[in-house]
Amino acid sequence: MLTHTPGYPRIGASRGMKKACESYWAGKLDEAALRAAALDEKQARWRVQQEAGMDLVACNDFSLYDHVQDMSVMLGAVPGRYEPLRQHFSDLDLYFAMCRGYQRPGFDVTAMEMTKWFDTNYHYLVPEFTAGQHFCYASRKAVAEFLEARAFGVAYPKAVLIGPVSYLLLGREKGKGFHRLDLIDRLLPVYLAVLEDLRHNGCFWLQFDEPFLVTDLDEQTREIYRDVYRYLKQHFPDMHFLLATYFGGLGDNLQTALSLPVDTLHVDAVNGYNELPLLFSELPAGMNLSLGLVDGRNIWSNRVEESLGILGLAVKSIGKERLMVSSSCSLLHVPYDLDLEPDGGSLPDFVKPWLAFARQKLDEIRLLADLMEDEVSDTAFHALSDHLNRSETRRHSPALRNEEVRRRTDAFSRQNVGRREPFHVRNLIQSELLRLPALPATMIGSLPQTDALRLLRKRYRSGAVTRDAYESGVSSMIADAIHWQESVGLDVLVHGEFERTDMVEYFAEHLEGIAFTANGWVQSYGTRAVKPPVIYGDVSRKDPVTLGWTVYAQSLTNKPVKGMLTGPVTILKWSFVRNDQPLRETAMQVALALRDEVLDLELAGIGIIQIDEPGIREGLPLKKAGRADYLEWAVRAFALCSGGVAPATQIHTHMCYADYGDILDALVRMDADVLTIETARSDMRVLADFAACDYPNQLGPGIYDIHSPRVPSVKEMHDLLIRAMQYLRPEQIWVNPDCGLKTRKWEEVRPAIGHMVKAAKKLRRHLPSYECIRTGR
Ligand code: GLN
Ligand code: ZN
Repeated sequence: MLTHTPGYPRIGASRGMKKACESYWAGKLDEAALRAAALDEKQARWRVQQEAGMDLVACNDFSLYDHVQDMSVMLGAVPGRYEPLRQHFSDLDLYFAMCRGYQRPGFDVTAMEMTKWFDTNYHYLVPEFTAGQHFCYASRKAVAEFLEARAFGVAYPKAVLIGPVSYLLLGREKGKGFHRLDLIDRLLPVYLAVLEDLRHNGCFWLQFDEPFLVTDLDEQTREIYRDVYRYLKQHFPDMHFLLATYFGGLGDNLQTALSLPVDTLHVDAVNGYNELPLLFSELPAGMNLSLGLVDGRNIWSNRVEESLGILGLAVKSIGKERLMVSSSCSLLHVPYDLDLEPDGGSLPDFVKPWLAFARQKLDEIRLLADLMEDEVSDTAFHALSDHLNRSETRRHSPALRNEEVRRRTDAFSRQNVGRREPFHVRNLIQSELLRLPALPATMIGSLPQTDALRLLRKRYRSGAVTRDAYESGVSSMIADAIHWQESVGLDVLVHGEFERTDMVEYFAEHLEGIAFTANGWVQSYGTRAVKPPVIYGDVSRKDPVTLGWTVYAQSLTNKPVKGMLTGPVTILKWSFVRNDQPLRETAMQVALALRDEVLDLELAGIGIIQIDEPGIREGLPLKKAGRADYLEWAVRAFALCSGGVAPATQIHTHMCYADYGDILDALVRMDADVLTIETARSDMRVLADFAACDYPNQLGPGIYDIHSPRVPSVKEMHDLLIRAMQYLRPEQIWVNPDCGLKTRKWEEVRPAIGHMVKAAKKLRRHLPSYECIRTGR
């Protein structure tokens, strides 16, 4: 049985690629040095896979920023606004300009739009297509990586490409009158050229990623799938096509997938578990099956006994020769290596044996294949019994259960947990109390994390500075932030979240039942990586988490300071969550812990509390069938943590990066008094959906794209607000950036926020009447 994984992490085991790219951007590293660092990283990944005994090793799954953007560059889909840069820029700088935007005297170009990669927390750059879109074979990255892999000594490099149908579906139409799939005939010749080049250079294995096959598709799209792969196979009958589907089962597309002329079909056997029997019985004689048995999205050790059961069944119906063992999807979504976690570190020693990171998952893939051999080696037997013992220990661990938590969640499960008064009543009370101007200006929470702050934190963690010194350092940053916000004219202030490295990790550190890793980095976008916590047991709150800093910040000003919490669904979505009970149960436990925090803040006089839920949209099941149930518990979890406050307390929530169209109902039901969203990069387009459903509560469409170092002008932001007014009633609108500012620099943030407040003030002067704000409409 052959083994492989659809892809491997690429940010660097110690985030080496992040550092290399950021040094390159800062002008401290030249292109040759960056390329050398990239080659080192690629080779390290190939070595690890080879050593772990993967028969096929992926290439072209590496990227300096984003693999979708790499495809766009390869296929010549570079939007016109970047053309002026071409004559001055190297290919590499042009690539980064598209990823990050570019601003210098004489040039000012926005970045490509970014959005979430299916239901993961990885973000890709959205291809932009025009009606007359021209494609051409413009970058040989895939071939170059194939050759590098071969030169390194990989026997069978498997070139990974996003399949043509998924590539188009990932993109967005710029302009009206066409659908992006209409472009398929123009696109295919370029794929032919890429494949030709690969084959010419000796590449035999091709992995086409077609994750859209696990989403709801219409018959027309299925037809396109059939045409496309028939066409490609016709031209390259001698290449081995491996069609990779992941993030779910094939559902209604199962027959379509089985009808495609590909040599191997890869399926997600973790999330598509229930359709495996059907798949085994219907697999056409000429098709091999790659079984993604090892979860590429979570870090729990494989349940080897279950996997072996599936493999046994598969061998019976298909035969060993036609089977491959793999991970459910690319391992991009899990950290590099559990062995990087120090003993006695933040990850409790008793949790470690229950986990597998990318490196360990390769071993699991290998083990499953080895255990299916006719003669099983002693090593494999030992590994098996070790696995079984570890999962037994986990199952019976007392660390998983907290009876008090179970009793409380149980009691709430029989209650109505939302707010008691309707929004219009709360709105009256709140505007009377808060007396905010029209178009109130605020920020989303975090402020720049400076080198000084990072150093302070590092020294505190290593014991080089005392807790007092650390806290007084953070206090003075909060005080500076409050004074700056007052002087710039913001209406609702934030404390800046200086005490948090990460909005989820911070809560993980303070809640029981959640552990966090020392080095478990996972790429979020570009050079940005996060360390998802590990929710292993029942969740509860011992002491208040955010109360101290919030109350301190509020003591410095007469303006309202928002309390700032991360919502239950986001904590779940951005963590690795225990897989031994339904997500819903874990969500309610987290929500209850947060409810206690919300009530403590309210009691301490904090009148505005923001509960961030940027993770809600990405948790949405990819297939429509599962959505209602998910949204039901997601909304309930939000209601549980926010619903206990008095009508005078204003609840905000924040979300970013998404189309909100298919969750609008849920947003209305969440019933936050104020919702702030990401809209700057997408030109307020999403507001049409809010207008269409007559979104009742207040809404802050982001007017400052915080994922780019650009400083938008007053006019630019004012124009965005005017656009927002086409969709929303003026008394509904808040003025704010797209998201938190922690990744930005003060040099960008100060002028940008200054411009933002000016834009708000300018528009206020022209609002016909402010009276409507207080009276409501
Ligand atoms: N309050 C958080 C911050 O400002 C929100 C971040 C997010 O939405 N991702 O950093
Ligand atoms: Zn955000």
